[in-house]
Amino acid sequence: MKFDKTLDVQRAMAIYAHPDDAEFGMAGTVAKWAKAGVEFTYCMVTNGASGSQDPDMTRERLRDIRAAEQSEAAKILGVRNVVFLEFEDGYLEPTIDVRRAVARQIRIHRPDVIFTMDPTMRYGGGYVNHPDHIAAAEVVLRSINPDASTRQMLPELWQKEQLEPHKPKALFLMAFGEPDTIVDVSDVVDVKIKALLAHRSQIDEDSVDFIKGWMKEAGKKKRYAYAEGFKVLRFEEDGAPPRDARREGRRAPQARGRRASRSTTPSPRARRSR
Ligand SMILES: [Zn+2]
Repeated sequence: MKFDKTLDVQRAMAIYAHPDDAEFGMAGTVAKWAKAGVEFTYCMVTNGASGSQDPDMTRERLRDIRAAEQSEAAKILGVRNVVFLEFEDGYLEPTIDVRRAVARQIRIHRPDVIFTMDPTMRYGGGYVNHPDHIAAAEVVLRSINPDASTRQMLPELWQKEQLEPHKPKALFLMAFGEPDTIVDVSDVVDVKIKALLAHRSQIDEDSVDFIKGWMKEAGKKKRYAYAEGFKVLRFEEDGAPPRDARREGRRAPQARGRRASRSTTPSPRARRSR
């Protein structure tokens, strides 16, 4: 699927903390891309076991309920693979174990685009962001540089598991504030709502108008009935020198070479991890 002139997407991956996070922020985009033939993978980092105020609920029961709800929502949207990493909900930190688990999935599924939340969002609009959201998003940023993309980072992944490094073409951050990219999801809004309502332990019909309201607001500027907004970062292909270096190289190849010998300009190998 061609997202635009420069971004061709065959595989995409959403990496997020809890079951239902992806449905809230991006299920319209997921449904739209899956319909267009993109192989979508969900990677849910925690087990969702903290998401209840019911004194009769247990963490064990809730974990199973939420995994089933997430699988159902993914099926409705046309998501091909759902990976449950099963770290404890509410206790997530960007430790090396979590980073290795996420980097492993990126190296297995090799997505062209990764979706996650914006880890710089801590509070706003009467809302304090959940620390698991921040931790999961932080892990994703670290996976792009260096965990999933750099050969000598977590070398056991390729030495023992034959998982080669991988870097996506783009990162889509679910935007809380000012998005730079608006995706029109008007024709899949009902699919998104159906997927959200699969999370029966978390939301009910009363929340639908509220969620549709967000999507209307996101679409206003572009005059889409319903939309989802993202901040998008694009990356150079592996091995390609960054644009700045290419410009510099054309202007003054010798000067660049001298600097390189003093190691102030990164070598091609080092560039990959920038
Ligand atoms: Zn969440």
